[in-house]
Amino acid sequence: MNLSLARLCLFALLILEIISGAAIYSLYKISSNEETDSKADLINASRSISVPITSLANTLRETATRIAQHPQTIRALKSGSESERIAQLENIRTFYPDANIQWALPNDTTTSIPLTPPLSVVYSRTMQDGRDELINNAAPALLTLTLAQPVMDPVNKAILGFVVINNRGVELQSIFKSLQMQNTFVELQQSNNNAPYSTLMRAGNSHLKTDNFQELKDLPGTAWRLAVWHPPMSTAKHVVSTFQEYLIVWLALSAFLCATIGGLYFFSKKYLAHDINTILTFFSDIRHARLRKTYTIKLTDIHPNFEIMYRLGKLMLGKHKQVSDFASIDFLSQTNNRRSFETKQSEVFKTLAEGWAHSLLILDIDNFKYVNDTHGHDAGDALIIQFGKALKEHLRGSDFIARLGGDEFCVIFPNTPLKRATELAERLREKMPSELQLKEGVMHKLHWSGGLSEYRKSDTSENMALARADSALLEAKRAGRNKTMLAA
Ligand code: GH3
Ligand code: MG
Repeated sequence: MNLSLARLCLFALLILEIISGAAIYSLYKISSNEETDSKADLINASRSISVPITSLANTLRETATRIAQHPQTIRALKSGSESERIAQLENIRTFYPDANIQWALPNDTTTSIPLTPPLSVVYSRTMQDGRDELINNAAPALLTLTLAQPVMDPVNKAILGFVVINNRGVELQSIFKSLQMQNTFVELQQSNNNAPYSTLMRAGNSHLKTDNFQELKDLPGTAWRLAVWHPPMSTAKHVVSTFQEYLIVWLALSAFLCATIGGLYFFSKKYLAHDINTILTFFSDIRHARLRKTYTIKLTDIHPNFEIMYRLGKLMLGKHKQVSDFASIDFLSQTNNRRSFETKQSEVFKTLAEGWAHSLLILDIDNFKYVNDTHGHDAGDALIIQFGKALKEHLRGSDFIARLGGDEFCVIFPNTPLKRATELAERLREKMPSELQLKEGVMHKLHWSGGLSEYRKSDTSENMALARADSALLEAKRAGRNKTMLAA
């Protein structure tokens, strides 16, 4: 029982381990895929945005650097008059017709960009109608890309002024507009020295913008960064997003399962094994048609049901005995009936071949009819009953007593040769009561005749010994009754 319980627990543990391992693994797979997807979105957004921004910034910086390092620019800003600086500006504009170029002196306060190195490419934003409608980049805000490049004095390394180049950010706006990102929301944000970042452009699914799950990517050479939002991962998925986490969670769950099932096993072994064994014993007893006086069941829940089962079992076995008795017992004499006599006879007959010896005594009450006729059928019945009872009392437990019909009985002496059977028959005659009370005031002097024979190996049928005993009985009747005759 303990062994099978242990096997059951081990089997359950194995199944649960496999199921939990597979479940956590699929969670790990889904979450790692999700993470890969969101990383791919970030990389995609970064590439689509940062590459053109960086190249725009580089172009502006290269242009500004070339202008700032030009000797005529240095001369105009170092020692030139206002008109010389304007002339130089006009001169430069002929080389870069698309660029909006201006000078700014170190103490210039008209430009909005911070003129202190390191300088970055920055956006300045002008609102239309004074409203900030920068929603999903569909806003009409006018964005200007600006770079201020210092012009250095090659002799004393002092800053002579700045080349300020502006570019309308139309190109960037169209990049943002073309971005298709259902699972991502991206913002281009600009650093404002110590002030909070301001948002320049937005793209993607704005519903995803929450306080959490934000990833930031700086754009080198600019004052900008990209902020990217992804759908939040569920906590369970988040816990197993790497293979290492998967192993840890699975091991933890395994330890929990081992502890739980181990606990259940020891609990069952300690508290349930006895009860289960008792129930099994009970069912086994029922199967073998027997019941003990007590079965100790401790579990309070089972106890009432077990009581009912026990009572039903008792009732069932009682009925079973009744039914089988009906089939084999003679109702009146309470000895075996003719059918069971034949079964027994066939049993003993079969053992003759092995060398066993069995004998048979047939008994018939003398003048039974007289009792019936004189004292009534009830008295006749009483005589049959008492005759059967007396036979059972005075014969051995191993002797097989049956009523063959009417007032005729038969005794099989198993494993008893004829000689010994003769002694037993004589002893029976001595011991049987000489008088019986059949009913009130009716005493009957008991006389019976008997015929004794032995089963023979040479007999061709089981009934031949019975026939011989019957002939001997007839002889005894003829010889005056109340005696036992041996078969010839
Ligand atoms: P004998 O001395 O030669 O044996 O004569 P008997 O009067 O005993 O006659 P016999 O054995 O031939 O008769 C048996 C009778 O028993 C016949 C039948 O009416 C009667 N009988 C058979 N079965 C029952 C029974 O169950 N109860 C009663 N009361 N009588 C029965
Ligand atoms: Mg008779």
